Amino acid sequence: MKSMKSYLGSVCLLGLLAILSGCVTEPSALTGESRSYGYTWQQELELGRTSDQGLIEQMGLYPDDALASYVTSVGESVLAQSSLRRADTPEIYRNLEFKFRVMDSPVVNAFALPGGYVYVTRGLLAHLQNEAQLAVVLGHEITHVAARHASQQALKQQWGQIGLVAGAVIGQTVTGNEQFADQFMGLGGSVFQMLTLKYGRDAERESDVYGVEYSAKAGYAIGESADFFNSLGRISAKAGQSLPSWQSSHPGAGEREGRIRQLAIEWGSKFSNPKVGEAEYLNQIDGLIVGENPRSGIVMRGKFYHPDMGFQFDLPSGWKAKNEASSVTLVDPTGRGILVFSGGKGATPEEAARNFVATSKMEPVRSGEVTIGERKGYAVESSVATSSGNMLVRNEFLNYGGEVYGFLSYSSVEEIEKYRLVFSNVSKSFGQIENSAIKEIEPTRLKVITATKADRFSNFLGKNFPYGMDENDLAIINQVELNATVEAGRKLKVVGN
Ligand SMILES: [Zn+2]
Repeated sequence: MKSMKSYLGSVCLLGLLAILSGCVTEPSALTGESRSYGYTWQQELELGRTSDQGLIEQMGLYPDDALASYVTSVGESVLAQSSLRRADTPEIYRNLEFKFRVMDSPVVNAFALPGGYVYVTRGLLAHLQNEAQLAVVLGHEITHVAARHASQQALKQQWGQIGLVAGAVIGQTVTGNEQFADQFMGLGGSVFQMLTLKYGRDAERESDVYGVEYSAKAGYAIGESADFFNSLGRISAKAGQSLPSWQSSHPGAGEREGRIRQLAIEWGSKFSNPKVGEAEYLNQIDGLIVGENPRSGIVMRGKFYHPDMGFQFDLPSGWKAKNEASSVTLVDPTGRGILVFSGGKGATPEEAARNFVATSKMEPVRSGEVTIGERKGYAVESSVATSSGNMLVRNEFLNYGGEVYGFLSYSSVEEIEKYRLVFSNVSKSFGQIENSAIKEIEPTRLKVITATKADRFSNFLGKNFPYGMDENDLAIINQVELNATVEAGRKLKVVGN
């Protein structure tokens, strides 16, 4: 959890924006020719705007304004060279404003949503070496938007309708029981479809080709970016089964690396003195958090801790925990008992409960003051009919440090007795972090250093690595081999607190 913005809307059956896709023919912003799309341009703008908000609530923005403006300025310079900004491009496209966002996630990922939303994660930024590489990544994503690839794909797959709900991905990613989560949440896996969208190889190739062209025209040394695609191949090879979506939905990194090198030769002859921008770039990411940020939530020895907010609670044994920007979701191994912890909307537990009932449009079967451990709280229970049967939803609100929090639990009506005690043991265990080492835990940050002499890369690394990372990850982050010799004067990204 990073923020206290309530995300009540996300677990309930509300805020559903359903837009029916059909078939529309509109001029392409890329080529000017008519192309067929699943959504009108207006619908795409609406889809993007709504999903963007959900995405921000769910992943959280990386809290560094200077870095965000830097990414935006690089993005804008590439966008200015794109087909969206040509004088003969239809006005509806030409006036499209873009939002470039840095998301607070350690996963290496970049993606776009229809209507001008482009995202890079801090995990991806850590892996780039210079501004030219960033430009090519942003150019690729800008092209997905300009070419309206999502809309074209919607037409191909005949989705029928896309429902987009703020924060809705939790059900699927956590439970591993898609049907259960989908049916309860009434989502049909739609946000997932949107975010893990496979555009197809032709669309990806188009994005690489145009992304490189726009970056070259913006003055960047695009040949530099090939090294990054080499890193992507190394990350995939290391990650094995859990491929970040940006890689799994794209053609092989090797194929892309080759294509970029080829394009770089073609464009290289047309522009002189292209910009690499290594010093500028590394200066911007010096101090960037790498790996998971334990301050926004960490699971250790059967407990969930939130050092920034100062609280902890127990995890039932064997349950999975998923920590997101505005919530923590706990799921039992079968995926049939779910507990979601998040901020409540209201000054008191009772007010938060009332607001929850009003916004969720649930019919409470029971509500009133309760004792949660040593705290006074307020609980509300409802039965919700879903296509997989009746679910019992209970939300317990409590006060802590001037904020109201809620533990929302649900299970089928038949199975609820099995889970009641487990659920209440979690909310009862809620309290202040006692352990001072955990209270003061700090994230690991990138530190940019300059090699003072030629030496093996591995000799520049310290002994401490962020949780889940090792020296091989640092080699990939630096786009070098672990045993390679690094020249004196080369800038390196190492870790330090
Ligand atoms: Zn792509």
